[in-house]
Amino acid sequence: MVTASGRRLAVVIGDPIEHSLSPAIHNAAFAATDVDATFVTRRAGTADVAAVLADMRAERWLGMSVTMPDKEAVVAHLDALTPTAARLGAVNCVFWDGDRLVGDNTDGEGLVRAVRDLVGGDLAVRVGVLGAGGAARAAVLALAGAGAREIVIVNRTASRARAAVALAPEIARVGDGDELGALDLVVNATPAGMSGVAGGPATLLPLPGPGAYAMDLVYDPPETEWLAAARERGATVANGVPMLVGQAAVAFERWTGVVAPVEAMTAGAEAELAARRARGRAGD
Ligand code: NAP
Repeated sequence: MVTASGRRLAVVIGDPIEHSLSPAIHNAAFAATDVDATFVTRRAGTADVAAVLADMRAERWLGMSVTMPDKEAVVAHLDALTPTAARLGAVNCVFWDGDRLVGDNTDGEGLVRAVRDLVGGDLAVRVGVLGAGGAARAAVLALAGAGAREIVIVNRTASRARAAVALAPEIARVGDGDELGALDLVVNATPAGMSGVAGGPATLLPLPGPGAYAMDLVYDPPETEWLAAARERGATVANGVPMLVGQAAVAFERWTGVVAPVEAMTAGAEAELAARRARGRAGD
C-alpha cells in the first residue's frame, strides 16, 4: 500500500503484536535514510496469514516481519524460501524478488552480527547454547556457518536438543551445564529471566566461566539475573538488543538494498524500551 502521504508500507504480523519493538526500530531506520516508508503492526493469528499475504501482494508492501505464532504458518503462502528459512522451517522476514515473495529467517544472521561486535570479530569460538527452541536453532545454524569451532547445546528437553544438533552435526553436540565454564561464549536462548515469564529462577541456568563472553537474548529486563551473575563472575556480557537490531538490520537490507543505519535503529529500540520502563510496563 502507498499511504496517503505516498509512503510505502512495511508491516509486522503476529498475535499479540501491540508490544512489538519493530515499529520503533524500522521507523528509526526509515527516518535515518531516504527510504520513504512507514512501519506498522497488524494483529494476525495463523488463521489470518493467507489474507495478510494477499494484502501484501495486492498493495505491494515494501516488506513484512513475522513473529509468533505465524513464523511457520506463513511458509505455505510464499513463492520461495531462502536456504536458511528452509532449514529452520520458520520465517521472520518476507521480501520481494521480482514478483515473487521470498521468506527468510534473519535471526541467526542478526545474532552473528551481534556476537561479532561482542567478541571483536573472530567467530572461530567454542559456544554453549542454552535452549533449543526457535532462537537457539537459528543461532546454531548461523554460528556454525560463521565458523564456530564447537557448539554445546544444553536444554531441558533432550529430544529438542538433539534436533538442534542435527542442524550442524559436524560441530554441535548435546552437553551438560557444567561444561559451559570451559567455553569461549555462552548464549542464553531461553526465556528464563524475561519480564512476565514464570520460568523458574534464572540463576539456575549454568554460567560461563570468567573471561568468557555471555549473551542473553532477553532484552527486557536489560540485565537478567543470569547475565548479571555472568558479569559478576568476570564475563563480558551483552543483552538481546544487539541481536534484535541485527535481525531487523538484515530485514531492512533485504527490503531496501540500503545498508542499515544500525546506530539509529539501536537508538530507536533503546528509546522505546526506556519509555516503556518509565511507564512501568514491559514490552516484547
Ligand atoms: P521457544 O521456541 O519457546 O524456545 C524456548 C527454549 O527455552 C526451549 O528450548 C525451552 O526448553 C527453554 N526454556 C523455556 N523456559 C525455560 C526455563 N525456565 N529454564 C530452562 N529452559 C527453558 O522460544 P524462542 O523463540 O527460541 O525464544 C527464546 C528466547 O529468546 C525468548 O526470551 C525470546 O524473547 C528471545 N529471542 C530474542 C531475540 C532477539 O532478537 N533478541 C530473537 C528471538 C528470540 P524446552 O525445549 O525444554 O521446552
